[in-house]
Amino acid sequence: MDHQHPPLNLHFIPYLAPGHLIPLCSIATLFAARGHHVTVISTPCYAQILRKSSPSLHLHVVEFPAREAGFPDGVELMSAANSLEDARKFHYATTLLRVPISRFLEQHPPDCIVADFFYPWVHDVANNLRIPSFAFNGFSLFTVAAMESVRSNPALDSDSGPFVIPDFPHHIILCSRPPKMATAFMDRLLETEMKSDGLIVNSFAELDGVEYIQHYEKGTGHKAWHLGPGCLAAKIGEERGKKSVVSEKELVSWLNSKQPKSVVYVCFGSMCRFPDKQLYEMACGLEEAAHDFVWVVPEKKGKEDESEEEKEKWLPKGFEERNAKKGLIIRGWAPQLLILGHTAVAAFLTHCGWNSTLEAITAGVPMLTWPVVGDQFYNERLVTEVRGVGLEVGATEWRLIGYGESEKLVTSDCIQKAVRRLMDGGDEAQEIRRRAREFADKAKQSLRDGGSSHNNLTALIAHLTRLRDTR
Ligand code: UDP
Repeated sequence: MDHQHPPLNLHFIPYLAPGHLIPLCSIATLFAARGHHVTVISTPCYAQILRKSSPSLHLHVVEFPAREAGFPDGVELMSAANSLEDARKFHYATTLLRVPISRFLEQHPPDCIVADFFYPWVHDVANNLRIPSFAFNGFSLFTVAAMESVRSNPALDSDSGPFVIPDFPHHIILCSRPPKMATAFMDRLLETEMKSDGLIVNSFAELDGVEYIQHYEKGTGHKAWHLGPGCLAAKIGEERGKKSVVSEKELVSWLNSKQPKSVVYVCFGSMCRFPDKQLYEMACGLEEAAHDFVWVVPEKKGKEDESEEEKEKWLPKGFEERNAKKGLIIRGWAPQLLILGHTAVAAFLTHCGWNSTLEAITAGVPMLTWPVVGDQFYNERLVTEVRGVGLEVGATEWRLIGYGESEKLVTSDCIQKAVRRLMDGGDEAQEIRRRAREFADKAKQSLRDGGSSHNNLTALIAHLTRLRDTR
């Protein structure tokens, strides 16, 4: 920082879902670490978490209109939704934030705004104020490029079987098509994102790959800025998104009691709610695979004191007794970075949410992929086919926001086979582990002095400084 170029004043506006908030706030801390004045516009509960975990960030707090959307006070994160209807209501409530956030931006215009693409109106506000604005969608650029290819080929029929991603650098087949309803919503957001001055990407260039970055930038004329992985900015044990339901000390001591590279970690992010029948298959698959595991199962709303009868709907009788030594079930929010970073963990059975994927890559943990919705199906292709750091479990059904009954269950047999393929050794598993280690090194390197993301951040700051100084 010098006197000629005083610090930039940046406003970050994250969407209120853990998978969006966590990475965008991490990216915000990267700017703050370079001495810039960063304000995150947040709601009261999350502001409390940020105050503790990221003291370098300034906060502007807006009340979340939970009641207006029919939620009890205190609900501020989309992960509280347990149904598609709830998710819709929650999204409606976030649209009401437009008024107080716009007012704040007009009264305190910054040098630049970085906003989640779920707030498409921000770019109009920024344009009116003649302030550069950047979009963030929380996806990998590989996925955004693939979505763009699908979007710009309307002839592609939705709602039916496998298809080749059109006009893409490589021949990549996706196993199922998104429902029309989901693409219509997403397409509108992706289109509005193009109004911004660029896309902030929570990934590093080596992972998305130059061919996909060029494909996106040439095809859309929109610049992508790879600044991640944001998770490397977090301290292990830091509260991210929500408070962990387990004692970290007990968890670490359980993991310490295990052999190195012997535990399968199973978690499906913050939004996915499987029906009991699917959880039952998962329990059987994990038991049959006979490896140690940590399994995160979201708590059911209003079912804190679950009866034995209720439990047996998703957990085979006697499961907990039989697996008392082998397995740990965490009912609720788990400290994912801490688990992935532990030497006992050998594999991550994941829904391929982009944050979970990137966190596994950064920790060098190979993945067993089981996408559920949206970008997760694209991320699976990147993880397995393109980068070779994971194996598919065999999920093909797209479920809206991960709720509701599924027509096709992923069977216990598929699950145990996939776990064994990665955990029982052999050439294929070894090669995947080698590649996972290689990408973990590249991830760390990208944020070091002279690394790709480090350089991108320097270039973006210089660009924003020029824009401000010539305004
Ligand atoms: N996460 C966590 N503990 C949990 C579940 C999720 O810390 O029990 C974090 C995880 O580390 C990641 C985020 O929540 O940073 C989930 O984001 P992702 O993109 O993987 O999935 P989403 O929740 O958006 O489906």
